[in-house]
Amino acid sequence: MIKIGVLGLQGSFAEHIAAIEKCGAQAVDIRHSWQLADVDGLIIPGGESTAIAKLTGDNADPIFDTIKKRVEAGLPVYGTCMGSIFLAKEIEGSEQGRLACMDIKVRRNAFGPQRNSFETSIKIDALGAEPFPSVFIRAPIVVSVGADVKVLANVAEGIVMARQKNLLVTAFHPEITSDLRVHQYFLDMVSASKQSKTGCAVANPDCVTA
Ligand code: GLN
Repeated sequence: MIKIGVLGLQGSFAEHIAAIEKCGAQAVDIRHSWQLADVDGLIIPGGESTAIAKLTGDNADPIFDTIKKRVEAGLPVYGTCMGSIFLAKEIEGSEQGRLACMDIKVRRNAFGPQRNSFETSIKIDALGAEPFPSVFIRAPIVVSVGADVKVLANVAEGIVMARQKNLLVTAFHPEITSDLRVHQYFLDMVSASKQSKTGCAVANPDCVTA
């Protein structure tokens, strides 16, 4: 069974765990670097990026170094809202701590403060014909992307979903809707990554893995 770690240091980790379990995969709340050893993918939830940034200065546990190393080795990681800010190489006007793994530049709070949070439906070709119910909570936008990054969804203000190889980000929060298509899209990325490492489909119980 696919095992997804959900970084539980702060933010909406419980909702992501529930969404992954509804998709039929295993989800674990990750608080320590040693827990990352056997996960097939990782979700970094929404929350407050300046709060998680403060934890990057705490060297008690090398959790962020471990995540970076595993990303470089191909671990699929999905960042929601704050997670997208934490994964970005560049944050407009800020040097706050981050993983700096993905070749995107983000603008924090691009739609305004909490009272400007909103829900809308977005057409996302990668998820099928039905528009996706997208909840934006003090959300960022992606203002520019590198050559390796594929833009998967836009709104008038800018890019709100993008992928660079094993990295996926959304500015919105699919975990607080009942639509599981973004989580399923991420699980498909994880499945493909696992298959390419083992040389066989994870769905095939007869397959002998390396
Ligand atoms: N505005 C928050 C930040 O900049 C992100 C909000 C969210 O994750 N919903 O960190």
